[in-house]
Amino acid sequence: MAFEAIEGQPRAVELLRRALASGRLAHAYALVGPPGSGRTTTALAFAQALLCPQGGCGRCRSCALVAARQHPDLHVLVPTPPETNPKGARAIRIALIRELERQAALKPALAAWKVFVLDDAERMTGEAPQAFLKTLEEPPARTVLILILPRAGAVPATVLSRCQIVRFQPREDGRSAADRAEAADTLAEVRAQGVEALFRRAQVFERDRDRAERLVDACWLFCRDLLLAKSGAPPRLLGDAAGAQEIEREAAAWTIDGLLRGIALCREARQALAVNVTPRLTVEVVLSRLARAAA
Ligand SMILES: [Zn+2]
Repeated sequence: MAFEAIEGQPRAVELLRRALASGRLAHAYALVGPPGSGRTTTALAFAQALLCPQGGCGRCRSCALVAARQHPDLHVLVPTPPETNPKGARAIRIALIRELERQAALKPALAAWKVFVLDDAERMTGEAPQAFLKTLEEPPARTVLILILPRAGAVPATVLSRCQIVRFQPREDGRSAADRAEAADTLAEVRAQGVEALFRRAQVFERDRDRAERLVDACWLFCRDLLLAKSGAPPRLLGDAAGAQEIEREAAAWTIDGLLRGIALCREARQALAVNVTPRLTVEVVLSRLARAAA
């Protein structure tokens, strides 16, 4: 995914591009905005541009490694459940920050930089924010840290004050409406036709991580809209205000618990895609679980 392909966030993209062009990079960036606004995709495009010898050509080995999430100088950290309880609350714990510190102290393996992306950085718990603050205070050489956050206030002010803040607007362009329509159609088809439709639909995501990410985002926003409709929110609060009637009808087929599980599922899928689970497999899991959840 290159910068050119990121839609609806011209200011965020411009800010990062200028940093790349001038070579004046901050040690840490906080990408702040609602889920689905393109924060993670942008973080990874930024990483690709930093790690590629040609500034993110999209064709070289380095860019291919970033696209497959296998570049040794790109570290994507996501919240995980406790080791002893796979069903427990997902968090970024102190052990993960220690591991980040250890990796950040090493020289880059291939590129001129090391990039660390902390997805859902607000989920740092216990001593993790304090330990992370120490890393920010003594930034390791040739290292760029990127925090993905829903709101600026979601981490301690001491952490945020050491990051350059990049704001993301909620995305309401034509593309996201189209993505949402695709997600709704796909779900309806998988629900009606079962496993055969699932495999057929998932095929197109075989090698297309960006498209898989967009589908998962769209499913996520779809569940969010259903949850809002179910809670009696006025249509103007829906991401898809124009489709309010349809959303209300669809919402009747769901329980609140089912929708909360759906949202959690999309969040996990998004993080799986940010590391290196196969896009197709991730899409299959999301579609089959969501299709069953509403049945
Ligand atoms: Zn390249």
